[in-house]
Amino acid sequence: MEQVKTLLNELSVNPYGEKITVLGASKTRTAEEIIALFQAGVSVMGENRVQEFKEKYDTVHAAGIPYRFIGHLQTNKIKYLVGKVDLIESVDRTELLDAISAASVKAGVTTEILLQINGGKEESKSGYEVESVLSAADYALSLPNLKLRGLMAMLPADKNEQTLREICLQIREKYDIMRARYEGRAQAQIEILSMGMSEDYAIAVACGANEVRLGRILFGERK
Ligand SMILES: *Cc1c(COP(=O)(O)O)cnc(C)c1O
Repeated sequence: MEQVKTLLNELSVNPYGEKITVLGASKTRTAEEIIALFQAGVSVMGENRVQEFKEKYDTVHAAGIPYRFIGHLQTNKIKYLVGKVDLIESVDRTELLDAISAASVKAGVTTEILLQINGGKEESKSGYEVESVLSAADYALSLPNLKLRGLMAMLPADKNEQTLREICLQIREKYDIMRARYEGRAQAQIEILSMGMSEDYAIAVACGANEVRLGRILFGERK
């Protein structure tokens, strides 16, 4: 846990002067491991499978830990998240926006979301292209019971540092445009740019991420 504390210290503020949130990507980890990491200072956790979210939710929630969703979400599973989840980071398509809005209306809650960008335009990953995310954001703001908090980016794994940098800076630029565009709008509070994982978080932070999602570097290698 000393290593975790050192890492959290290094990741306090990004070059834009914004406080960095470190999210623990807790897939395959037990609720006990999650709580131990929270006690070491990792303030937010995220699951990428609904089944795991459901299994660990009661324990994680009782410990007072904000619990997010960061994975691919099927519309028929939204009902297991709405009213419980702190934030859904991985809203990657219009159908999902419609369905989260409808489920939130039904449950009488507002669900906070990030729009997911497919930074490398990879076939194997979902998400909006950076060029089309503004119109998706406009659409999100036309729907009831959603609150748009910013962007989440999936970055390509196999790109060189220079290409990654360019992708991250382009996403940061879009994020800044969104912040200006939606200032003062009740349904938007654009404060989160979630990009970077264990392999590439340093580049992402240097290019303006204010949240990183870390799994292996916090919890150790997955079994
Ligand atoms: C697992 C996961 C991470 C963290 O990955 P590591 O390489 O273990 O840091 C980040 N984001 C998402 C969406 C994940 O599923």
